[in-house]
Amino acid sequence: MHQEMAREVNQLLSRIFAQRRHSGRTDLEAVESALRAALHQAGATALSELLQYQAPAPDQRQLPCPCGHHAQYQELRSKPVLTVMGRAQISRPYYLCSHCHQGQFPADVELDVKDTEVSPGVRRMLAVVGAAAPFDHGRQQMEVLAGLEVTTKAVERTAEAVGGDIAQGEQREIQRAIQLDLPIVVDAPVRILYVQMDGTGVPVVKKETVGRQGKTDGQPAHTREVKLGCVFTQTKWDKKKGYAIRDPDSTTYTGAIETAEMFGKRIYLEAWKRGWSRAETKVVMGDGAEWIWNLAAQHFPGAVQIVDLYHARQHLWELARKLYPNAEVNQKVWMKAHQRRMLDKGKIERLVGALRSIHSANPEVREKIRTEADYFERNAERMRYPKFRRQHLFVGSGVIEAACKTVIGSRLKQSGMFWTVRGANAIVALRCCHINGRFEDYWESRRAA
Ligand SMILES: [Zn+2]
Repeated sequence: MHQEMAREVNQLLSRIFAQRRHSGRTDLEAVESALRAALHQAGATALSELLQYQAPAPDQRQLPCPCGHHAQYQELRSKPVLTVMGRAQISRPYYLCSHCHQGQFPADVELDVKDTEVSPGVRRMLAVVGAAAPFDHGRQQMEVLAGLEVTTKAVERTAEAVGGDIAQGEQREIQRAIQLDLPIVVDAPVRILYVQMDGTGVPVVKKETVGRQGKTDGQPAHTREVKLGCVFTQTKWDKKKGYAIRDPDSTTYTGAIETAEMFGKRIYLEAWKRGWSRAETKVVMGDGAEWIWNLAAQHFPGAVQIVDLYHARQHLWELARKLYPNAEVNQKVWMKAHQRRMLDKGKIERLVGALRSIHSANPEVREKIRTEADYFERNAERMRYPKFRRQHLFVGSGVIEAACKTVIGSRLKQSGMFWTVRGANAIVALRCCHINGRFEDYWESRRAA
């Protein structure tokens, strides 16, 4: 085998040197690519050699079967495996249980290629490219970066399988956390810990929205909401201007298309891992969405609750436009009075009073005024912005809003994409795992299992 490999590479080198003598120049890119291909070829040959298993000895031709009976050795069977060196062939013993007709390949389990024709090394690569970019883009990256030809479908299937495995691991962790009391981690206290939550729609295939109402009345839904949460810490603020400064590299993310109830457990576990129990000041932030504040009450009692200031302002703007359609100057004057003098100053009772005293002949406007007044009244304690600023806390939930775009939107909301819930959740889990810097740990722990 060694001789064969050496001969291949030698032949290639002779050709390269001959060419240089002939033309007087070296095309480095052509040479390096040819060498990589030749070495891959040699490596794949070596791997195929390594993956030729022997038939078991006569006294070892029986294995326990999960059904309780025994599986008998049948024959050596082979299958192709795509490795980081290219296509290799594996030949290994096959056992069959005559009782339940279940077959098994013990070597596949040992090699971590059970039910797949892709090696662990390549699966790791496919997970990395599939997490980062559309699957076809990943296919192209594999060709350029790894010299491996794969199909777009293989990138998709593998990235989703790895992401699905991460998502399952998360669910096991969440179940454990619910059933057992989470251990109190003894570690340095955390000055300020933030939990921010938001929702963002992801386009899905038709079957995932059956019976679901869209945003427009009577229209079917085309998207499902990913609930996304982030946790980060703050120890400093700007000494001159007083504004909050997020600790660098302190942000982790978690999310899924799931019910608020399930998401609550997810975000609680994430906050816990990040030191919720050790935080001196705890803050929950979001827009006005009801599910967020229900979860805050259920899982994060005692936390300071803050409604994103910019969402609150947006609510006032919408009302200003309803009150003074096409009259920009009037809208601005009204905003000055209501935003700067009331909302921004945390004088929410005054704002609610002012809103409720507006009279309008238009029933639609009256309804809008009522809902907005209710919104501010309900969230009054979450809008004491001057108080929050004096504590040097964030007043905007910009981190989670940016994450909706960078973690979810940029990967899952490109044109022409339609996800299954399962596929989207797998990729969301995979991306969060990567961004949180936990992918290497996950991969290592999976190998150890
Ligand atoms: Zn069996």
